[in-house]
Amino acid sequence: MSRTPHPRRGKDVPEQLGFDMMPERLFVCTPSKLASYADCPRRYRHTYLDRPAPQKGPAWAHNSLGASVHTALRNWWDLPEERRTSAALPRLLRATWVREGYRDDEQERAVYERALSWLEAYTEGLDPDLDLLGVERTVAAKTAVLALSGRADRIDARGGEAVIVDYKTGRTGLDADDARGSLALALYAFAAERVFRRPCRTVELHHLPTGTVARHEHTPESIARHVGRAEDTARDIIAAERALADGTPPDEAFPTRPGSLCSWCDFRRVCPAGADAPVKETWAAVETLQPAAPPAENASPTVS
Ligand code: SF4
Repeated sequence: MSRTPHPRRGKDVPEQLGFDMMPERLFVCTPSKLASYADCPRRYRHTYLDRPAPQKGPAWAHNSLGASVHTALRNWWDLPEERRTSAALPRLLRATWVREGYRDDEQERAVYERALSWLEAYTEGLDPDLDLLGVERTVAAKTAVLALSGRADRIDARGGEAVIVDYKTGRTGLDADDARGSLALALYAFAAERVFRRPCRTVELHHLPTGTVARHEHTPESIARHVGRAEDTARDIIAAERALADGTPPDEAFPTRPGSLCSWCDFRRVCPAGADAPVKETWAAVETLQPAAPPAENASPTVS
């Protein structure tokens, strides 16, 4: 083993043990981990650091709905091509239906019927020649700061490029600005370009209740800006975690960031800042769901 003089200790140390020369560890993360910190550092701490984690509030119906629809759609893509019809959807959705969070059986049944109508309309409007690179596909990439991974709902191959598709079941009115501003979509595109070794610039939010698509075409520069923002957030998290390890009180290292999200936060019951937020019933977000837009014959979803 070669030995080199250490610049500060003034005596030889094994080269492999020179701590000043140790590479910084990459921050292992997903887009949702970064978003959690950006939304509220305290919520990040409860979710990713506190062990045992504080007890979460009850399950939300809108999360159950989103998970059910995503899984049913994934399983639909897993079917042999000739069986990928709307006739397969009721069984798939029933099999994956998550029941938690609804007000009662009547509401749950109504939401199930509505979700089924979204899926039927959405799959009817799909291009039968769609070329897929992946469904619920995990993509990963590294930067100087991040070891990033994430699971994209769908990655299409279109004209030699990879296109990121993210299904949405929540709020209406998503437009190109939402697709442009989505950190998760940009990071999936960044990683997918490396994984598939083909350009990946187009990102799309497919809103299942309305059959609309919010699309944005990134440039290498706009993807780089998102990656830079993700790295900045990671540096903030690393600094906060170091401060915590060095004895800074947890509530100081990871302060609250009260806002409208507090009403929907799983930890509002253990957070003083959440106490003032209006209380939402676990089914509040599914009370105003809309029926599916009728599919246009042989047409792709409407694009904004
Ligand atoms: S209730 Fe609000 S401030 Fe408290 S952890 Fe949740 S999001 Fe953060």
